[in-house]
Amino acid sequence: MTTIIDGKKVSKDILEEIKAEVETLKDKVVPGLAVILVGEDAGSQVYVKRKRKACADLGYNSEKYDLPADTSEEKLLNLLDELNNKPSIHGILVQLPLPKHIDEKKVIEKILPSKDVDGFHPMNQGYLLTGNPALEPCTPKGIMELLKRYNIDMVGKTAVVIGRSNIVGKPISIMLQREHATVTMCHSRTKNIADVIRTGDIVVAAIGRANFVKADMVKEGAVVIDVGINRLDNGKLAGDVDYDDMFDKVSAITPVPGGVGPMTIAMLMKNTLESAKATLK
Ligand code: NAP
Repeated sequence: MTTIIDGKKVSKDILEEIKAEVETLKDKVVPGLAVILVGEDAGSQVYVKRKRKACADLGYNSEKYDLPADTSEEKLLNLLDELNNKPSIHGILVQLPLPKHIDEKKVIEKILPSKDVDGFHPMNQGYLLTGNPALEPCTPKGIMELLKRYNIDMVGKTAVVIGRSNIVGKPISIMLQREHATVTMCHSRTKNIADVIRTGDIVVAAIGRANFVKADMVKEGAVVIDVGINRLDNGKLAGDVDYDDMFDKVSAITPVPGGVGPMTIAMLMKNTLESAKATLK
């Protein structure tokens, strides 16, 4: 029997756990998240709306900054300075991608590492790499939470990560190694990629190519985590993995939607709570 790894349910459980903790902390600290959107990208607007709703549901102090697409880099950096120095704000999120005239690297590096709830600041990425406590990027953190809550054994297992982005592929490879998996990374230049993917007891696909991973590319009984979010011509969403094709072959799999996606927001809320709690120490 194949297990459907239900990110929708797990994220709901986590948000309830967070809500209970927020209640116990309310006399000491109310977590505060500033969400900044520059421009009117339709996809980004949807993501930002979900993040703000999650804040409202949890009773967080949510600050909304919707800036026009022609906002100067200097203005955005000044806003970040202001938020870095604002005690009621524990997390700052700048929705990516940014308009082309703004240097993403400068923006990410401007956010105080202790408020970098996206976990993209090089300081947090470096801490993750070196095995120190850090604010960790939300999507890979959410994947690890799913694997743990579904009791997926990682010790000594082979894990294949497809995609080497800074926000998913690279950090998830570090996190899987931390749990003692033996990790292989694949990318667009990997030769005989199907042969490599077939070695994986655990496969994480973060490529951005609809239904790329087929049943004949995975090992019988593999655990498959699909990070991809691809919009098909018919308007439907598809993952990077052909879910129906491999469903009977694998032991566990995340659906799209309802797998990794909802976990990303839950982890953003968790990181914001962690940042708020850190101010009490
Ligand atoms: P990205 O920056 O778009 O990079 C894609 C990666 O996939 C690159 O490393 C690329 O290799 C590799 N790749 C592309 N085509 C390939 C191919 N044919 N064979 C093997 N590797 C290939 O990646 P990302 O930002 O991590 O996003 C990946 C997917 O996850 C997208 O669909 C995105 O929407 C989704 N996503 C979902 C969430 C969520 O919350 N669920 C969060 C983040 C991203 P090279 O490095 O060689 O170019």
